Amino acid sequence: MNDIITKAEILIEALPYIRNFYGKTFVIKYGGAAQVKEELKESFAKDIVLLNFIGIRTAVVHGGGPKISAMMEKLGKKPEFVQGQRVTDEETMNIVEMVLGGLVNKEIVSLINSHGGKAVGLSGKDGGLIEAKKKVIKKADQAGSEEIIDLGLVGEVTRIDPQILISLKNEGFIPVVSPVGAGPKGETLNINADYVAAAVSSALKAEKLILVTDVPGILDKEKKIISTISKTRIKKLLDDGTVTGGMLPKVQACLKAIDGGVSKTHIVDGRVPHCLLLEIFTKEGIGTEIQA
Ligand code: ADP
Ligand code: MG
Repeated sequence: MNDIITKAEILIEALPYIRNFYGKTFVIKYGGAAQVKEELKESFAKDIVLLNFIGIRTAVVHGGGPKISAMMEKLGKKPEFVQGQRVTDEETMNIVEMVLGGLVNKEIVSLINSHGGKAVGLSGKDGGLIEAKKKVIKKADQAGSEEIIDLGLVGEVTRIDPQILISLKNEGFIPVVSPVGAGPKGETLNINADYVAAAVSSALKAEKLILVTDVPGILDKEKKIISTISKTRIKKLLDDGTVTGGMLPKVQACLKAIDGGVSKTHIVDGRVPHCLLLEIFTKEGIGTEIQA
């Protein structure tokens, strides 16, 4: 008897959060690094389905870096990165589109649907969701002047048309978006999923942006997790090189989302079962919350 009373109490603890978030939209970025273990993928899918059944609308944006690299290697191509971004020639772009839009996207859709959700997979090309342009990155050379680095078919978001997502949401579907966009001439561009999730969260006026990855959150110099961090302190971590590689676009994505009107942004550890529920329905949360 005591056991079941405890269960009821645990459910009731979530009531203030459910009341607060009912009808609101959360954008969740499911990182490639967190899509590894079967039971964790199941727990992620169950969390998404549960959120939807209690009235929280979700849009999922996924990455898939490790699977893209594995396929490239199978096909005899060597993955290359500059500042955390994949150098993308035409052949690589084809692999990216096949792996993300085909394998990874459909796997997530199937997982969510197997637990009773109604997921629909789409890429940034569908419904004109993501307009992009070629991204230019600059690096200071040894003489101190700026060198422009060509990453190939890597894009940055120029515009989001959220209509397709709104239509799906209104009909009770859970959109699952692969981060591929269309350039001005209709060319296909590979975009870091963190940036896509940020742009989608602003366009949907989301309540939260949650980035699910393979570290506990943002780690400081001593490798300790930072539970909340302000914009000013983040700038310091960027400047002193504490935040590097794949964490760079995440931090920038959170800052962009906040500037775009999203109330809260979180980075959480996808290696922890039910990380989404733990972050959303407990006061402490488990990861890093980035505040305005
Ligand atoms: P995802 O597939 O989720 O996008 P990434 O590999 O792109 O994952 O980004 C997460 C990685 O960022 C971590 O595994 C870690 O190696 C790296 N990283 C760099 N700086 C930090 C930091 N300060 N705190 C936490 N992770 C960091
Ligand atoms: Mg990444």
